[in-house]
Amino acid sequence: MTRLLAYILDLVFALIIGRLISQLFHPGIHRARRNAGPGPERPAGTIHTMRDPVCGTFVSTELSRRLKWEGKVLHFCSQECLEKFQSHPIHPG
Ligand SMILES: [Zn+2]
Repeated sequence: MTRLLAYILDLVFALIIGRLISQLFHPGIHRARRNAGPGPERPAGTIHTMRDPVCGTFVSTELSRRLKWEGKVLHFCSQECLEKFQSHPIHPG
């Protein structure tokens, strides 16, 4: 009975010591992964809006549909507006 108890205690000690050693040698593994990584960098104040020449809506240049026209880049709120412009070009401004 005492031999069995000693055996179990040995096993528990081995487990605890094993864990301690693994923590000593690989501390990074046991730390929480707090920094999952920054999202897409989008600094504030850099969003520009341009006027859609077809419907007059101001659209974000990041979200707009773009069309090169007479050396300029025009921004449209939708594919519909872009196609309207292409079939009946209006001079913007
Ligand atoms: Zn539009």
